[in-house]
Amino acid sequence: MADCIFCQIATKQRPSQLLHEDEQCVVFRDITPKAPTHLLVVPKRHIAQLDDLTAADQSMIGHLIVTLTTMARQAGVAGSGYRVVINCGPEGGQTVGHLHLHLLGGRAMHWPPG
Ligand code: AMP
Repeated sequence: MADCIFCQIATKQRPSQLLHEDEQCVVFRDITPKAPTHLLVVPKRHIAQLDDLTAADQSMIGHLIVTLTTMARQAGVAGSGYRVVINCGPEGGQTVGHLHLHLLGGRAMHWPPG
C-alpha cells in the first residue's frame, strides 16, 4: 500500500530505527515511546487490522508473537515482564491502519488501561 506508513517503513522508503527484519516482518522502535522499551512488530504484508486475519494467517501471526518474545529477551525486559498490545479499529485505539504488535517494557504497567 503506497500511502501506508508501515508499508513504507517495511520497504525502507521511510526511515525507522529498525531492530529486526526477516521474510515476514520488521521490528522497529515506536517514534513516540510510551515506555522505556516500546517496539512495534509489523508484518511486511499489508493487513489493515487484527480483525482482518483469517485461518490462513495463523502461521504468520504466530511468527510475529515468537519474534516479539525474542525481541523482549534482546531488549532485556523478558525477566521483569512486559505488555503486548494490539489495538484494533477506532474504539480499540488503532491509529495506523496496518496491523502491528506493541511491545512495551521497562516500567510497571497498570491495569485496566485507560
Ligand atoms: P496504534 O495507535 O496502535 O495504531 O499505534 C501506532 C503507533 O505507531 C503509535 O504508537 C505511534 O507512535 C507509532 N508510529 C507512528 N508513526 C511512526 C513512525 N513513522 N515510526 C515509528 N512509529 C510510528
